[in-house]
Amino acid sequence: MLKYCVVSKSDEVSINLKNKIIKEIKLEYSEENPNIVITIGGDGTTLKALHRYENMIERILFFGINTGHLGFLTNFRPDEIDKVITMINESMFAVENVGLLSYTITMKNGEKIEGLALNEVTLINPPRTLIVDVSINETLLEHFRGTGLCISTPFGSTAYNKSLHGSVVDPSLSAFQLTEIASINSNAYRTLGSPILLANDKIVKIQSHQPIEVYFTVDQLSYKLSDFVELKCSYDEKYVKFAHNNIGFMDRLKKAFINNN
Ligand code: NAP
Ligand code: MN
Repeated sequence: MLKYCVVSKSDEVSINLKNKIIKEIKLEYSEENPNIVITIGGDGTTLKALHRYENMIERILFFGINTGHLGFLTNFRPDEIDKVITMINESMFAVENVGLLSYTITMKNGEKIEGLALNEVTLINPPRTLIVDVSINETLLEHFRGTGLCISTPFGSTAYNKSLHGSVVDPSLSAFQLTEIASINSNAYRTLGSPILLANDKIVKIQSHQPIEVYFTVDQLSYKLSDFVELKCSYDEKYVKFAHNNIGFMDRLKKAFINNN
C-alpha cells in the first residue's frame, strides 16, 4: 500500500489544510518511507521537502499546494485541496518529470560532499573575490575572478539564475546553465561574460589552485567551506516527479512574472 506524508509551513492556513488532508486521505501516513509527499507552503517548502527525501527521490511523487509567496514550484492552489485529496485517494494523477543537477565537492583533505540540486548550486565569496578555473569537459574555458558562479537547472532558471540575467529555460530541455555573478573583466582577468546553456553530456569543473574559503549553496541550503579545492557539476539522470495540474509552463511563467490574468 502507498504511504504519504505532509511537509508544511506552520501558519494557520497551512496547518488547517494539513489537518484536512490527514483526516481525508486514506493512505497510511509515514514520514520515514513515503511514496507521496504533499508540500504546503511556497517554493522554500518544496525545496526543503525535496532535500529531506533526497536519498529516495526517485520513488516519491510530490504534490505542491501553494500557501507561500510566489510558489512557482507548486502546482495546486489551496482551494483545490479536495481535488488533490481525490487524486491521491483514487491514484489518478498526471506526472511531470523534472531534471536535477548532481554535484561533487572535493576538499583539501580529499573529503567529498555529494548531492542533488533542484534549482541551482552556487559557489560564492561575497566579501572578496572568488578566483577559480572553469573547465567544461576537460577544456579549460576561463580563469574566473568575481563574486561567484551559479549553475542552474531549467526548473531553477526562474530563480536565482533569472536575477543574474540568465535565460529562462523550458523545463522539457535536458540542459543546464552556467551564469556569472559579478565577474571582473580586465586585461588581467577575462571570462565569457554571458550565461552558457549546456547539454546533458557536459561536466562543469570549477577548481582552485590553493584550498580556499568559499560559500557553497544548494537551493535553500548554504555551507561555509574552509578548504575548497574543486566542484564538479552535471545534469543528473534522476528526476523529481511532480503531480501535474494541467497548467503549462508558459501559463506559469506569465502568472508568476507578467500578470495574473
Ligand atoms: P527565499 O530567499 O525565501 O526565496 C527567494 C524567492 O525565490 C522566493 O520568492 C521563492 O518563492 C522564489 N523561488 C524559489 N525557487 C524558484 C523557482 N524555481 N522559480 C521561481 N522562483 C523561485 O529562499 P527559498 O524560498 O528557500 O528559495 C531558495 C532559492 O532562493 C534558491 O534556490 C535561489 O534560487 C533563490 N535565491 C535567489 C537570489 C536572488 O535572486 N538574488 C539569491 C539567493 C537565493 P517562494 O516565495 O514561493 O518561497
Ligand atoms: Mn521562500
